[in-house]
Amino acid sequence: MKVLVINCGSSSLKYQLIDMTTEEALAQGLVERIGIEGSVLTQKVEGRDKYIVKQPMEDHKVAIKLVLDTLVDSEHGVISSMDEISAVGHRVVHGGEKYKNSVIVNEEVKEYIKQCFKLAPLHNPANMIGIEACEELMPNTPMVVVFDTAFHGTMPEESYLYALPYDLYKKHGIRKYGFHGTSHKYVSQKVAEVMGRDIKDLKIVTCHLGNGASLCAVKDGVSIDTSMGFTPLEGVAMGTRSGNIDPAIVTFLMKEEGLSIDEVNDLLNKKSGVLGISGISSDFRDIEDAAFKEGIHRAKLALSIFEYKVRATIGSYAAIMGGVDAIVFTAGVGENGPETRESILKGLEFLGVEIDTEKNNVRGKLREISKADCKVKAFVIPTNEELVIARDTLELIK
Ligand code: AMP
Repeated sequence: MKVLVINCGSSSLKYQLIDMTTEEALAQGLVERIGIEGSVLTQKVEGRDKYIVKQPMEDHKVAIKLVLDTLVDSEHGVISSMDEISAVGHRVVHGGEKYKNSVIVNEEVKEYIKQCFKLAPLHNPANMIGIEACEELMPNTPMVVVFDTAFHGTMPEESYLYALPYDLYKKHGIRKYGFHGTSHKYVSQKVAEVMGRDIKDLKIVTCHLGNGASLCAVKDGVSIDTSMGFTPLEGVAMGTRSGNIDPAIVTFLMKEEGLSIDEVNDLLNKKSGVLGISGISSDFRDIEDAAFKEGIHRAKLALSIFEYKVRATIGSYAAIMGGVDAIVFTAGVGENGPETRESILKGLEFLGVEIDTEKNNVRGKLREISKADCKVKAFVIPTNEELVIARDTLELIK
């Protein structure tokens, strides 16, 4: 059985065709600049050269049609007919309060995803376009949606409620939802498997550190707290997002700098984080170069602030879980930044974790990176959100 996984952004689309017998990706690709001049599809297949198609794509339907044509292409494709695609799994960022699990697409589900547009205005509309385009092009193929928020549906009230007037929660759904759920789910399950332990007996902190970053406290196999909140702006400092700040800064800025609602939003989401501190870049590679090759203080400071916030969050999750058995690093920086991992874990020796500098010298590979005799184990585990989406899809269509 083969499952097509679709992750639609506003002008881009990522896809993977996964063979569920082996759980291997047969093909993976990216379509960029949809609806903008210079549209391009890039497909990668193991053992072959990259296949690039440049042609105008005015909307997502045209882009998905090209993805399907490319998958069945006699020279560059990996399947002989679209009938080989048993189901499509769509990533949808926000499932609101209602969906705590993945679901098969129907009218009710689509209506609810639309109701959640106001909770994820940048993501859900784009995800929805992908669903509707696939429905038109593959009317007989079952579709499943997998929500980024779903894994956090197990958080207890004291963890997901803000200390705001309770009516606002009831009226607007203002609460913590959490994001990166498929990633936290994948790496927490994987670490239990690697440790040869039942996940139901483990206390795990998963650190998804990419351009967007979030941590999750996984106790007995379920999420009990996570650092992102009502929106993906809450939590640790990120590439361009501020993460937690005193909420009074918002009104202060509006008053003193004369900023509008949109301008404050833009400042906190796009101009803050390690970009805002360093003034150089949101990309950790650029900041590391500036810090270590050029010795620029603000670049060093951006890294220190990021590491400090992550370390503090790990500590607080150990406190709420009553200890920790494993700490997992994943995503762009988590998988590829040995120096960042080392700095984060330095200072957490009191918890019982100590990094093995030699083992930690790894990028993009699953590896234990703590010293052999440590009580608390640390790991690098490459995430695989597409596989979680494909697994959930298969499970539901069965
Ligand atoms: P993601 O959002 O998961 O794609 O992660 C993107 C972030 O990962 C960017 O800030 C990159 O700089 C960072 N990243 C990717 N590769 C490396 C690397 N080799 N060393 C340090 N950071 C990296």
